[in-house]
This record gives sequence, structure tokens and C-alpha cells, in this order.
Amino acid sequence: AKNTGKGQIAVFDQTMHDAVVARHELEAQLRSALKAEKFELRYQPIVNLQAGTIIGVEVLTRWRGDDGQYIPPDEFVPLAEEIGLINHFTEWVLERSMREFNAMMSSLDDVQRPHAYLGVNISRRQLGDPFFADRLRAIVERTKFRWSLKLEMAEHSDSRHNERSLKTMLDLHQSGIGIHIDDFGKGNSSLTCFQASPFETVKIDRTFTASIANDHSHAVIAQAIVQLAHHLMTNIVCQGVESPEQLKLLQQWGCDMGQGYFFAPPLDIHRLRKLLIEPTQS
Ligand code: C2E
Ligand code: CA
Ligand code: CA
Repeated sequence: AKNTGKGQIAVFDQTMHDAVVARHELEAQLRSALKAEKFELRYQPIVNLQAGTIIGVEVLTRWRGDDGQYIPPDEFVPLAEEIGLINHFTEWVLERSMREFNAMMSSLDDVQRPHAYLGVNISRRQLGDPFFADRLRAIVERTKFRWSLKLEMAEHSDSRHNERSLKTMLDLHQSGIGIHIDDFGKGNSSLTCFQASPFETVKIDRTFTASIANDHSHAVIAQAIVQLAHHLMTNIVCQGVESPEQLKLLQQWGCDMGQGYFFAPPLDIHRLRKLLIEPTQS
């Protein structure tokens, strides 16, 4: 009986029991994966829609569980947050991706090398950590990272920036590390993110992009967001661009940047390097 009223004792049924066991197993796997550095990194290009050039890449983490199946980051990142592993995880992703990106960029000659930033997803609560900025700067030094770094973070209207987060963002901004707002238009994101100064770029969620070519009201809203962003000197990345129709609309509206399977899926660092060298192939 899980649906108990007030004052009743909840009794686990078999399904709940199984779910708890599965979760414990996943938790244990995640802890050991982190210890053994069992994650793989993929890099998805972000494209300037007018020039067609790659202006950045986003790091997306892949984890293959003990049974060989990929466990999606939408599942294990929230778990890492819950069990207090998110700092460790994010800092691992930051350090590893900065090393890989550094080595790859350094291996290109000046003609091949794009002016591209590295974008890394962070969890919102990390900005509340007073030591995050210092540890990040330590990673930059340790890895001798010398390219542009952006942090992507989802914004929600219900999580008002407290003073601490704002301080961290301004601190990072002064170190030349930009903050990009992720998943705009999904769930409860709000227009207030256009007011908060440290955000240089807003990423429109792919569920939004998905419907611009066949839903008139979505198209009108998306176009208005692009215009609004431009008035406020904020850049826009449209995520989840999958079709030439979507691309054409975004170009017409003057949208700055796009990301999605139409350009490239998330690639391992070697494939990314190949794409940068021979942009017309692969
Ligand atoms: P996100 O930051 O919104 O990342 C974009 C997601 O859309 C990625 O899913 C990407 O593979 C997928 N995608 C890209 N282009 C297309 C497209 O054209 N069509 C469709 N349908 N999907 C596309 P992924 O890699 O499964 O990641 C899911 C989420 O997990 C990410 O959403 C991000 O919030 C989180 N995440 C991934 N890696 C990390 C990480 O290293 N750290 C943290 N904190 N979060 C991560
Ligand atoms: Ca992202
Ligand atoms: Ca997303």
C-alpha cells in the first residue's frame, strides 16, 4: 500500500523495492565509474549560421554502464547531484575536456584552427559553491588551457539567483569565462535571464526548434526571442537543428548560431578534429 493517507504507515511493495535496489546499484556503479574515469566525452559543433563556420563545441558526456549499455546523462547527472558527486563529476569533465581540446587545437596549424570555444555543462547549484571559481581557475592553470571557455547552465524562474551565484558568475566573467543559459523555452525558464548581465548567450531548447517549421505560433515566438536577444546584445544558439527548413527560417530571422544533427552529432575528439580539417566531408 503506497498510497497511504495521513497517519498510516507506508509499506514498500515489490515495485518500489525493485526501484530502490536498482537505484542503489546505479549509485554504486556511478561512484566506481567516477573513480575509474569510465566516462567518454563527445563534442558537438556549434555553427555560425551566416558564415557556416564552427564557432564552438559543446562537451556531452557518455557513460557505459557495467552491462555495456549507455546510460543517458539526463539520468545520471541528476543522480550525481542527489548523491553529492556533482562537483567531482563536473571537475573531472572540465579537466578532461580541457586537456583533450587543448591537445586537439594545438595539433592544428593556424589555417585549420577555428576560433572556437569549449562549452561545458555545469549544474546550477555549483555556482552556489564559494570555491567553484577558484577550483576552475586552478584547472585552467593545471591544464594550461588557452582557448575560450563557456559554462552552460539551465536557468529556472523559480531558482532566483542568490547573491552567491551572481558573485560567482561575475567572478568567472572577469576571468574571461562566459556563462550560457541552456534550455531556454523549456519548462519554466523565464525572460528575466535576458536582464541578468553576466549571460552573454542564450540557448533555445531543441523542443522549440523542433516545431518552428510546422507550428506558426512557435515560429512567431522563436522569431521574437531572436529579436529580443539582439536588442539586448545577447547571442542566441538554436539547439536541435535537424532540417534544412529549420535552418532556412533561423537564417531568415538572423539567428546567430545553431547546433544539431543537421550540422553534426556529438563526435569524439578525433572525429571532431577530422571535421575541422575537412569541413565538407564526414
Ligand atoms: P543539453 O545541454 O541540452 O544538450 C543537448 C542534448 O541534445 C544532448 O543530449 C545532445 O546529444 C542532443 N542533441 C544535439 N543535437 C540534437 C538534434 O539535432 N536532435 C536531437 N533530438 N537531439 C540533439 P545528451 O548528450 O543526451 O545530453 C542530455 C543532457 O544531459 C544535456 O542537455 C545536459 O543537460 C546533460 N549533460 C550531458 N553531459 C553533461 C555533463 O558533462 N555535465 C552536466 N552537468 N550535464 C551534462
Ligand atoms: Ca548544454
Ligand atoms: Ca537540454
